[in-house]
Amino acid sequence: MTTPANIHSNIPTTAAAIADGVRSGALKAVDVLEAHLAQIAAREGDIHAFNLVTADEARAAAARVDADVAAGRDPGVLAGVPIALKDNMCTRGIPTTCSSKILEGWRPPYDATVVQRLAAAGAVAIGKTNLDEFAMGSSTENSAFGVTFNPRDTSRVSGGSSGGSAAAVAAGFSPISIGSDTGGSIRQPAALCGVVGVKPTYGTVSRYGLVAYASSLDQMGPFSIDVRDSALVLEAISGHDPMDSTSIPQAPLSLQHVLSQGVEGLRVGRITDMPSGADPDVTARLEAAFDALKAAGAKIVDVEMPSMKYALTAYYLIAPAEASSNLARYDGVRYGLRVNTTDTNAMYSATRTAGFGEEVKRRIMLGTYALSAGYYDAYYGKALKVRRLISDDFARAYTKADVLLTPTSPIVAFPVGEKSDDPLAMYLCDIYTIPTNLAGHPAMSVPFGTGAHGLPVGVQILAPTLGEQVMFKVAASLERSMIAAGGAK
Ligand code: GLN
Repeated sequence: MTTPANIHSNIPTTAAAIADGVRSGALKAVDVLEAHLAQIAAREGDIHAFNLVTADEARAAAARVDADVAAGRDPGVLAGVPIALKDNMCTRGIPTTCSSKILEGWRPPYDATVVQRLAAAGAVAIGKTNLDEFAMGSSTENSAFGVTFNPRDTSRVSGGSSGGSAAAVAAGFSPISIGSDTGGSIRQPAALCGVVGVKPTYGTVSRYGLVAYASSLDQMGPFSIDVRDSALVLEAISGHDPMDSTSIPQAPLSLQHVLSQGVEGLRVGRITDMPSGADPDVTARLEAAFDALKAAGAKIVDVEMPSMKYALTAYYLIAPAEASSNLARYDGVRYGLRVNTTDTNAMYSATRTAGFGEEVKRRIMLGTYALSAGYYDAYYGKALKVRRLISDDFARAYTKADVLLTPTSPIVAFPVGEKSDDPLAMYLCDIYTIPTNLAGHPAMSVPFGTGAHGLPVGVQILAPTLGEQVMFKVAASLERSMIAAGGAK
């Protein structure tokens, strides 16, 4: 399998190595940036990871980092690391489109907390990545600005909705990118593109400045080439933020020190009644992951999750319900697009008709229906009860197991166009990622070899609330076993 390694001849591949080099003065942030911009120039035409590359701003930021080092100031733990941002996080003065026509031309007046924290740590933002419109989708085919193709095979999708962020890391455009995950949008594209992707515990990373899709589920998190880089980035972006009322009042996560600790004695749960549907090549890699953890000293235990089979249904009521409310703000008055007509009501309708794509309209209608008087109890109310049952299942499972292991995606990256006319087939891509969002727990995908057509397969590690440390221990162990087996990271 090709990895982004060796792409930039004398520039290290990982964020950790780049930051070490820049902080010590051995590397120049401007050279690191130019190497990545060259890679973008070479491959972006085939991949379309970005809605916008902010080369000028990036060059200025990299020069500031180098000036800091020259002046003896420490630019921070991500010094000179190029980072790509999903185009649904606010960047001051820089277009933020959510890959929707309705926001075209809108420039936010402020930076998201994550964007501020990355800059404060010395990272260099290089652009805004493509996504399914408003993060609704699993393939980045729902973008108003075109598909993002998978760098491992450009006839296939990159996954979604953070497909541009996953593709950017897999193609060597940046060692790190940031995505958002409401039902799997970091983990699933990470799996399909063969990179690491982390959805932290709800409330761990501030949502301030993340354009809302379904606010009770949305979380931001990193993509990276290896496990350590995701740990490094999470340490920099997590921690309490008074600007987000759902932010947990706690210190930033501390993760890098656990990576070498091993999994001896840890209990790894196998869900015995997990919804079936994963392809055999994916299941085979999951079994290999269980074997690898067992060989590293973990204990495999069986757990039951009887309500898990209802998670997808509950999610596709709760997420559209919240979306229908969140997206009411795009009215032609406050943001982006306005289609002028004779009166205000006609303007709302013409603007929303022209501005939103098909999938977004489908979700708004589904959500409005589920919330309407007379249907609320039967649909939205019932979905909330299922959400509770799923949390209860997890609570029971975590009395027996420290982490759970599942496939990330039931299938490897599929050909562009294969599912675009079948929303239900598309929704099934998230069958293993959605339950954790409903519970608010952390989960991550690590590349674990290849399946059909030599395409990457990701294994998902799930942990209880604030269980990031144990989750990363397991991730690091799986990564070590892949390296020992001679596989690509
Ligand atoms: N694919 C799921 C959806 O369409 C999840 C998206 C996400 O996590 N943003 O809603």
